[in-house]
Amino acid sequence: MHSGEPVAHPDVLIIGAGIAGLSLATALGREGFRVTVIDGAARPEPPSESRDLDAWDLRVSALTPASIEFLQSLGAWQAIPTDRTGCYTGMRVWDAQGSGSIAFSAGEVAAPFLGHIVENRLTLSALLRCAESTAGVEVLWQHALDSMALTDQGWQIHCESGEAFCAPLTVGADGARSRVRSLTAMPSRQWSYEQSAIVGTIALRTPHQDTCWQAFMDTGPLALLPLADDDKVAMVWSLDRAKHESVVALNDEAFLAQLNRALAGDAPEAMALGPRVSFPLMQCHAVDYVDEGLVLVADAAHSIHPLAGQGMNLGLSDVRVLAQELANANASGLPVSSPVALKRYQRQRKTENLAMMAAMEGFKRGFGSANPLAVIARNVGLNLVDQRDGLKRWFMKQALS
Ligand SMILES: Cc1cc2nc3c(=O)[nH]c(=O)nc-3n(C[C@H](O)[C@H](O)[C@H](O)COP(=O)(O)OP(=O)(O)OC[C@H]3O[C@@H](n4cnc5c(N)ncnc54)[C@H](O)[C@@H]3O)c2cc1C
Repeated sequence: MHSGEPVAHPDVLIIGAGIAGLSLATALGREGFRVTVIDGAARPEPPSESRDLDAWDLRVSALTPASIEFLQSLGAWQAIPTDRTGCYTGMRVWDAQGSGSIAFSAGEVAAPFLGHIVENRLTLSALLRCAESTAGVEVLWQHALDSMALTDQGWQIHCESGEAFCAPLTVGADGARSRVRSLTAMPSRQWSYEQSAIVGTIALRTPHQDTCWQAFMDTGPLALLPLADDDKVAMVWSLDRAKHESVVALNDEAFLAQLNRALAGDAPEAMALGPRVSFPLMQCHAVDYVDEGLVLVADAAHSIHPLAGQGMNLGLSDVRVLAQELANANASGLPVSSPVALKRYQRQRKTENLAMMAAMEGFKRGFGSANPLAVIARNVGLNLVDQRDGLKRWFMKQALS
């Protein structure tokens, strides 16, 4: 059906112009690779500058210092308006069913801050500018992947638009429901958390104190992430399916009342809310991240529960390591699809991603139980970590990397 169509031949073809795809394109373009990125969506509009409650992006990420450093190295961090990122220096985590709590502060590890809360569309827009201004990189919107076939020159990719591409290395950066992963039949282990997350922007009656607030309930975790305005936070409220159905159906007034009941304690009080949307939560991990002429990065390789806000950070680490391995291979005269480089990438990233996924699963199971013994154990555990300097520093090191 597709025969006879012209085929473009970059060195690397990236499917997906999300944060992972665009950061990889920029990093590889700077190493001298010719990169084409295709995305099924339309080119995103420039982000709104309005500070109204309904104007903030509903998707935000808590970026760690390591992710920020990587974005800085690409020139993207500098392109994100500083008055639009929420720099946080504290973190409060507590068990809503008991008395256990833990507080982290940047001062305890002599760090200037713990991270920044950034609207995804700002990170995306900054990266798009970087990618488009990098020689050798082209980004094509409204080019949805349709089919893939392995040839002796690499994977031949056909888009719904009719165009075709063939590169020695194809990268799947097409998110949690990766079509690259399914079309190439790369096996993955996945299961539903039987939870959905409600996200939205909340106006507070009292300031957020540059702190991330997270309550663990037996129906799921609730996080308030501080935005640049000190009276606004991004809410990520993960709820078991049945509870989600009832909470999502509430009108604004009843929703706020329910939210404030869940937050009761030291947390700031919610006063008003913008639009809310829900995301079903899935855990998915590809058994292998690499195959012949093919590599998966970020959510296409692994998606995890948002309770620790680590999905984007893990994805950016994938990109940093993959770009470095491909540059090293190139410097040694190896081809861009060198299995040695791809395997080195997989080895480094799989270990770290699996460790984070196991930790998140442990947290979710531990806090998902209303069993009185589990409640006592996790409260004693939280208080213990809070009081032990060494243990606390270890947890903070994980949060900063
Ligand atoms: C509720 C929630 C809260 C979160 N909070 C945090 C947080 O605080 N911190 C954090 O680090 N992470 C967080 N995450 C995770 C984070 O959002 C993801 O890890 C990150 O967005 C993944 O980026 P990506 O580039 O891999 O994928 P995506 O952002 O999903 O991008 C994939 C791109 O591929 C394109 N695409 C898809 N299919 C095709 C196709 N067939 N053809 C062409 N293009 C295609 C899409 O249009 C899209 O542009 C959260 C996730 C959720 C659900």
